[in-house]
Amino acid sequence: MPPPSCPICALQASPAHRAELELGRSALWLLRHHPLPAPLPGWLLLDARRHLSGPLAFSDAEAASWGLAVRAASLLVQQLSGCERVYAIAFGEGAPHLHLHLIPRHVDDPASAAWRVADLYRAVERGERPAADPVAVAAFVARGRELLAQGPLALP
Ligand SMILES: [Zn+2]
Repeated sequence: MPPPSCPICALQASPAHRAELELGRSALWLLRHHPLPAPLPGWLLLDARRHLSGPLAFSDAEAASWGLAVRAASLLVQQLSGCERVYAIAFGEGAPHLHLHLIPRHVDDPASAAWRVADLYRAVERGERPAADPVAVAAFVARGRELLAQGPLALP
């Protein structure tokens, strides 16, 4: 059983979060937009459905499926945002439940290059840089749901 204090488990069980920010879920994975205020439109999170800290705790089924899930979610970020690259970062410190950050990297935006994206993240968190427009985030989520439902990019 997950600890009752896990914020990721709480998000996955929240009907309000599902209605607002979730793009889709499968038996093993859940894809959602970064909560508001979001650092960038299209900054997604790929969660394990099961409460686990990271790949060290994967079952054989999760280990076999993970690469397909990361690829599908990354392609979705790229198709929707038009970015050239998609960063994938997971620390598991804010919550000890695997949530892979999938970050759209536009090569014409130096503020999002490599570790500078962490400065961007903290600047939004401190209110020093405007967060992503919630209307743009909602549009991204809506289009993401359509793409996931069409099949080729469905989560495994
Ligand atoms: Zn959890």
